[in-house]
Amino acid sequence: MTTRGCAVVDQIVIPRDQWLSLLAELRRRGRGRHESGAFLLGHRDGDRRVFKGCVFYDDLDPKAYSTGVCVLYADAFDTLWGLCRQTGLTVIADVHTHMGHAGQSPADRENPMIARAGHLAIIVERFARDPVWRHRLGLYRYEGAHCWTDLGGLAARQHLKTGTFA
Ligand SMILES: [Zn+2]
Repeated sequence: MTTRGCAVVDQIVIPRDQWLSLLAELRRRGRGRHESGAFLLGHRDGDRRVFKGCVFYDDLDPKAYSTGVCVLYADAFDTLWGLCRQTGLTVIADVHTHMGHAGQSPADRENPMIARAGHLAIIVERFARDPVWRHRLGLYRYEGAHCWTDLGGLAARQHLKTGTFA
C-alpha cells in the first residue's frame, strides 16, 4: 500500500555535480537496455541525509542486472555493510532506473532494498536518459510492513535538494 506524503521531514542533500554524475553512471551502466541502481551513502544530520558517495549494485554483484531488473542477494549486502563499517557511512537511500515511468513495481513494493522504516527509495524513469527532472522522479519512504509513503511529484523537489552546497 502506498499513501501520499505531506510534511517535509526527510531531505536528501546532494551537490548538483554529484547528482548529475550519479545519473550519468546509472545511464551508462544500464546501457539503455536494463535497469541499474545504487545505494546512496552518507550520514544523517537531523532530518537531513547528506550524500557522501554511492555504491552501484553491479559493483556489489556483477550479476545484479542479469534479469533486466535490479536484484541483490545476501552476499551483496555483506559487502555493503562491510563498506559502511569501513567508511563510517550509512545507507541514506537507494536509487534505481525503470525503462518506463518511475512508479513502483509490485516487486519494488514487496521487496524494499533496505527493509527498515524510514528508508528512502528513488526511481528514475527512462533508464535515466537526459534530461532528468526531479518532479518526474519516483520517491518513496518505507514505513514497514510493505507500506510506503509517496513523496514524489512536485514534493520530490522538497525532499531531494541538488543545489550547490558549501
Ligand atoms: Zn523498480
